[in-house]
Amino acid sequence: MQTTQKRPIIIAIDGYSSSGKSSMAKALAKTIGYHYVDTGAMYRAVTLYAMRNGLIDNNGTPDSKAIADAMPLINIGFILMPDGSQHTSLNDEDVENEIRGLDVSNNVSAVSAIPEVRHDLVVKQQAFGKSKGIVMDGRDIGTTVFPSAELKIFVNAPATTRAMRRLKELVGKGIHTTYEEVLENIESRDRQDENRKESPLRRAHDAIDLDNTDMTIQQQDQWLIDRFNEAVEKHPEL
Ligand code: C5P
Repeated sequence: MQTTQKRPIIIAIDGYSSSGKSSMAKALAKTIGYHYVDTGAMYRAVTLYAMRNGLIDNNGTPDSKAIADAMPLINIGFILMPDGSQHTSLNDEDVENEIRGLDVSNNVSAVSAIPEVRHDLVVKQQAFGKSKGIVMDGRDIGTTVFPSAELKIFVNAPATTRAMRRLKELVGKGIHTTYEEVLENIESRDRQDENRKESPLRRAHDAIDLDNTDMTIQQQDQWLIDRFNEAVEKHPEL
């Protein structure tokens, strides 16, 4: 029997903080056998490096020049864990837990606004997509990293809904915080991500919107698989 294999595509999932992008991107990648790249984790790893090396002052202002100069010293990778999950590494150290904490969350948007940081990470992200067959999530994937991605999704939900979900996730990981603190962090990151000069958070004009406020995880995953199947049908076979 002859089997036809579809040409692999690039799937860009962008949206606001804690909108569920990463979970849905991961689930889709697993189902369709694609690679998953969490670009937020890359910005978080650079931020952790800057914090550890005293490159962010007590007011949360990053030393842009020093961080830009340090980029060649920052090696970010992804480690596949025995349970199939992916951890982020910073210069070969597993920093997955540390990059998810509120300290990094509070500083990451200022660091990710530094043009040299973005240029460096965008080049790395584009290299990941060379052979296609990837699901990448972030803020500027459909607009800047892969403007010609075959499938672009833009995810949103009200900040209060996102904060509640994020709080549950953090508490589940044993990270102690409050709803107010999480909401403030989400709103502040949204504001900074939308207003920075260099590739701000924007919906690509050809993205498909997803407001997942009233969706279960299963409904959301199925919705995404349906969009994937439609996108693959539109593109030529091998
Ligand atoms: O996706 P996540 O919430 O982990 O991203 C953390 C931060 O990294 C965002 O708030 C944003 O400031 C930055 N980011 C970005 N561009 C991306 C991905 C993340 O600026 N493509």
